[in-house]
Amino acid sequence: MVWRAARQLDAALAGRVLTRSDFRVPRFATTNLAGRPVQAVISRGKHLLARVGGGVTIHTHLRMDGSWRIRPAAGFVPRDHRIRLVLANADWQALGYLLGVVEVLPTAQESRAVGHLGPDLLGPDWDAAEAVRRLGADTDRPVGEALLDQRNLAGIGNLYKAEVLFLRGIGPWRPVGSVPDLPALVELARRLLDANKERTGQVTTGVDRPGEQTWVYGRAGRPCRRCGARILAAGPGIRPRAGSEPSPRMTASTGGRTGQPDERITFWCPHCQPPAPATPAAGDPGTG
Ligand SMILES: [Zn+2]
Repeated sequence: MVWRAARQLDAALAGRVLTRSDFRVPRFATTNLAGRPVQAVISRGKHLLARVGGGVTIHTHLRMDGSWRIRPAAGFVPRDHRIRLVLANADWQALGYLLGVVEVLPTAQESRAVGHLGPDLLGPDWDAAEAVRRLGADTDRPVGEALLDQRNLAGIGNLYKAEVLFLRGIGPWRPVGSVPDLPALVELARRLLDANKERTGQVTTGVDRPGEQTWVYGRAGRPCRRCGARILAAGPGIRPRAGSEPSPRMTASTGGRTGQPDERITFWCPHCQPPAPATPAAGDPGTG
């Protein structure tokens, strides 16, 4: 998770002078920040900002497959074409793999990179009311899509989208305007992110064992942990066939090379998460 990566990078880089910077992206291939101190590394939603002396910020984003590794400075930088950025000091080297965004900009203009973001669920300036306002603004928009839109609130990825909607009993395609208690939905998302921010993996069930960490995410074709119905998946290359047995392809195509499902795939339980409440006044199934 980005919050954790920022904390680890901050611990390794902040307060130390860069002995090497190696930007392996064409636009910044000649940029050299060696000799400058790193002041802080922070996260804003899923974006990482490393503030460097001289009023410069390195902005990166993991996108689909990115990751950071921190190694002792004494080791060699691995020969690996997936490395997009190397930042090193006398003690540590930080290696950014397959970063979706790598750019350098004036610190005073960080808003160019992150100014569009809604309230940051893990930020020091988290504003629940503003997040709810933004999320609810477009009443016709499917709630799953609205939750992923980082302009509404920053930090929710596909896993948390799927899990939060399951836990609240809300079908992912329900229009935002029909979702009861948006503040509770937002607060649950914040609690799940906060509970996982120090972890490598992500657990929403409270059970940190392989195959048991999530309710619906990554579980297409498997039985719902609450009702036993088969979890469905929909997204690019997958045709949802509600009421029928999931095809082998439906399950197989949800795991990428990394073992992580495609970020655009939606997972849900058709029974626990109806498209709309059966009887509007008869209680929200997600209140339990
Ligand atoms: Zn279910």
